[in-house]
Amino acid sequence: MKITVRNICSWLIASLLIIFGVVRRARMKAMRGDYILSLYFHKPTKEEFEKSVRWLKHKGFTFLSPADVLDIIRENLELPKGAIIITVDDGWQSNESSIVEIANKYCVPVTIFVSTEPVEEGAYWWSYLNVAEGTPLVVPSKATLKRMHNNDRLSIINDIKKYRSIEREALTIEQVKQAACSPYVTIGGHTHSHPILINCEDEDVVEELKISKRKLETWMHKEVDFFAYPNGDYGQREMVVLRNLGYKLAFSSKPQYLTKESLKDYFELPRFGYLEGASFAENICRMVGIWQPLVQKLQGTYKLDTKIKVTPSSAPPIKVPKTLPQFN
Ligand SMILES: [Zn+2]
Repeated sequence: MKITVRNICSWLIASLLIIFGVVRRARMKAMRGDYILSLYFHKPTKEEFEKSVRWLKHKGFTFLSPADVLDIIRENLELPKGAIIITVDDGWQSNESSIVEIANKYCVPVTIFVSTEPVEEGAYWWSYLNVAEGTPLVVPSKATLKRMHNNDRLSIINDIKKYRSIEREALTIEQVKQAACSPYVTIGGHTHSHPILINCEDEDVVEELKISKRKLETWMHKEVDFFAYPNGDYGQREMVVLRNLGYKLAFSSKPQYLTKESLKDYFELPRFGYLEGASFAENICRMVGIWQPLVQKLQGTYKLDTKIKVTPSSAPPIKVPKTLPQFN
């Protein structure tokens, strides 16, 4: 755990939740088989990830791949009790030792959602913000950039790139290929350049989703069926494009249980976030799905999402909005 005031306060609250049986009750509830605990990591240390996998295994959870989830949706597989799916976003280079090695060691399925441009070029766009100091540029915060129109964000990042370069931080193509060879690892799509999709023009959304799928499939000689939205941002347009490109499932960052009901929304499957650097007690609360809803309730921001429905692939095609470019 990184020693910060935030982490110490959270550790105290999480410890109380464990001591007073709230975590145990959440775990027992998960064991009833009504839902899947759907988790996402980014770049945990090997120790963090191994400790989490060991804890989940020890508590009797059943690890699923996204292909298993698809089988459950298609009723080819029964929803197991204590089901959990582990996903990892971005494709950080450290994932090779912290995620892939542990998945192989403990024989647990994991899914890594990889952005292809950082794999080709080495770094993620937001990392350039950390090295902009000392350049003549005035650079807005990451949060501000995430709200900007995509072209404006790109122009700022490209300006920084003229002054600065960054050492590789994403997996290499060779490492992606190696990871994909593991029987426990599924590689999924996470766009090409990791833009905030809702800030992009229609044609850029199509290109981002199409290019990344094509590149991953070329590298791995495998189909890419699963996707996670960068920053968890999406709308009806993104779901339509994903479906038209042949993706089968997409994961959001809505912190909710993946119930039989929410499994019907193929392109907005919820996930709980693991927080790297936080205490293990907090992350236990996160993994059993009680932390984020509790924090949202305390902040008064907890509200049910307005449902955006996408029909399954077997249903008649969705009417594509007029403004959206057509493609095959
Ligand atoms: Zn991401």
